[in-house]
Amino acid sequence: MAASPNPLHRLLDLSHQLGREDRRLAILGEGNTSVRVSIDTFLVKASGSNLATLSDASVTECNFSALLPLLGKKSMPDAEIDRALLASRLNADAKKPSVEAIFHAYLLALPGVNYVGHTHPIAVNRLLCSKHARTFAQRRLFPDEIVCCGVESVFVPYTDPGLKLAQAIRTAVVACIKRLARPPRVILLENHGLIALGATSQAVLAATLMAAKAAEIFIGAAAAGGQPHFLSAAQVARIAGRPDEHYRQQALGL
Ligand SMILES: [Zn+2]
Repeated sequence: MAASPNPLHRLLDLSHQLGREDRRLAILGEGNTSVRVSIDTFLVKASGSNLATLSDASVTECNFSALLPLLGKKSMPDAEIDRALLASRLNADAKKPSVEAIFHAYLLALPGVNYVGHTHPIAVNRLLCSKHARTFAQRRLFPDEIVCCGVESVFVPYTDPGLKLAQAIRTAVVACIKRLARPPRVILLENHGLIALGATSQAVLAATLMAAKAAEIFIGAAAAGGQPHFLSAAQVARIAGRPDEHYRQQALGL
């Protein structure tokens, strides 16, 4: 099943949006993006390339079947992971995919997920590098945060990037799906950054921008004095279940 018309075009546009300097989501080679092309393959940003200026020459098409089995391995030497990343390419001339392609493969294989965007937003990382990291993932401050980021975000305790991080993400996402019966919209990686996932590139951009805004509001509310005033569980559930909010989600391509 195709993710959308022109998945490469949409992936490049999403990457340029996420890489915009004024949005302070990623600089230099930070972050990566991906799109599911078919049941067998996906496109992912190549290692070391820049989101803001990403071109088709720095996007690599990979086979799910070459990367998903890695998630079941207890441990693997880095050289072997490198070989697997290179072997996952459809075209041997394509650049090496980022090591984070392993978690992209896992998330794109979830039902209803066609796009993934991973960034290191300054506002979000201010919280993810603080004692508030888990609270920021679990609580909600305002209605649009629920519309764009879901009722809660998945929280992943700090893990070094690579296969171990992909495995930690899988463990946390599986627990979330068991609880909520649907994939999350946002995954927060302690001391690292944010992953947004969704059916469309607009959903990934909206979740990323709204999470960055929520982080700024959290920090501002805490600075205004004490613990921010969070929405209650009943308020969060009510917003998540409102038909007009569902309409807004559809209108926003979420
Ligand atoms: Zn990262």
